[in-house]
Amino acid sequence: MNGVSPDIVLVAGSAGFLGSHLCDLLLAEGHRVIGLDSFCTGRPENMRTLARDPRFSFIEADIVDPLPTALTRHAGQIRRVFNLACPASPPHYQTNPEHTLLTCVTGTLHLLRLAERARARFLQASTSEIYGDPEVHPQREDYWGHVNPTGPRACYDEGKRAAETLCFDFARSGRVSVRVARIFNTYGPRMRADDGRVVSNMICQALSGEPMTVYGSGSQTRSFCYVADLVDGLARLMKLEDDDAGPVNLGCPGEMSMVGLAELVKALTGSASPVVLRPLPVDDPRRRCPDIGRATELLGWTPDTVLEAGLRDTIDWFSAEIGAGAAHNRPADERAAAE
Ligand code: NAD
Ligand code: UDP
Repeated sequence: MNGVSPDIVLVAGSAGFLGSHLCDLLLAEGHRVIGLDSFCTGRPENMRTLARDPRFSFIEADIVDPLPTALTRHAGQIRRVFNLACPASPPHYQTNPEHTLLTCVTGTLHLLRLAERARARFLQASTSEIYGDPEVHPQREDYWGHVNPTGPRACYDEGKRAAETLCFDFARSGRVSVRVARIFNTYGPRMRADDGRVVSNMICQALSGEPMTVYGSGSQTRSFCYVADLVDGLARLMKLEDDDAGPVNLGCPGEMSMVGLAELVKALTGSASPVVLRPLPVDDPRRRCPDIGRATELLGWTPDTVLEAGLRDTIDWFSAEIGAGAAHNRPADERAAAE
């Protein structure tokens, strides 16, 4: 057990991309873990190895609904609550915007109340999207952001902003000890091929010889963090003893254009796919790059994985997935073209 207490850690969103990797890490650290998920975007396959570990148990539930008694009866033993339950890909969170907003607000409220009852520390997976289309670069945590409250991204951006408000109100009134991670674009194995985000789209398109879709001119930038680095940052933030640290950016400071990413994926896969331009989604942020000074100072955290190495691992993983015949998992663009 490495001297770690076997108290229970709850991970909401355990069947998702980040949540499943976080559960792997927590079990490796010696914790008992309860995973909770509605499978709205997550997949049982992501928890295949977790399910074989007797220290892992799973509850299927939607956090928008009152939490099931199967969970609340463990409240006395739950010491940590990670809230990662929320669709993260723009096409997914825009499919049912009302439910996305409720997941962020009502769902987070339900989990905060559980944490209050359990006297558990709470970590909220927030997002760089709370900065909207930022006017300040790189983004520091004291930047308040530039968000369109009425656009198609608002269900997520404003939902996550409101969730942060709830977290800090619970903290201010001494009800729950909270940590808030503002996560920047993260990639790696277990993303869904039909996720719709840029890394999964481009890799799957390159591997299957389909056109690689760049939205807009492709000059917009993002910074990409490898999943192993990111979940290490989440685990460190949860362990931070400072109750007043405020939100903490977690991401990779290197900034890359989407055209640049397409060229890199094409080179790493050796693909002959052409790069094609498609319309830019409404309110798509033009630049995004984290200042991670606070994470480095408070957590001793910096992401170690260089982009080429992380992309190679992700490409290997998708090669195996696609090779396994996951036809239903092809990117939405590609499926539409084939139909
Ligand atoms: P994901 O879609 O792979 O995982 C989200 C998980 O939450 C899924 O398993 C889904 O089924 C579950 N879920 C969604 N709504 C739910 C609900 N109402 N009740 C119960 N379960 C629900 O996304 P991800 O990339 O793993 O993101 C995880 C978290 O991290 C999200 O909160 C997201 O906002 C945040 N985040 C991720 C990124 C990133 O780049 N991956 C960036 C910023 C923030
Ligand atoms: N994007 C792209 N091609 C794709 C999917 C996305 O060029 O096939 C762009 C998208 O317009 C955005 C960037 O890549 O500018 C990152 O998009 P993603 O959905 O991965 O994350 P987010 O916009 O939430 O940062």
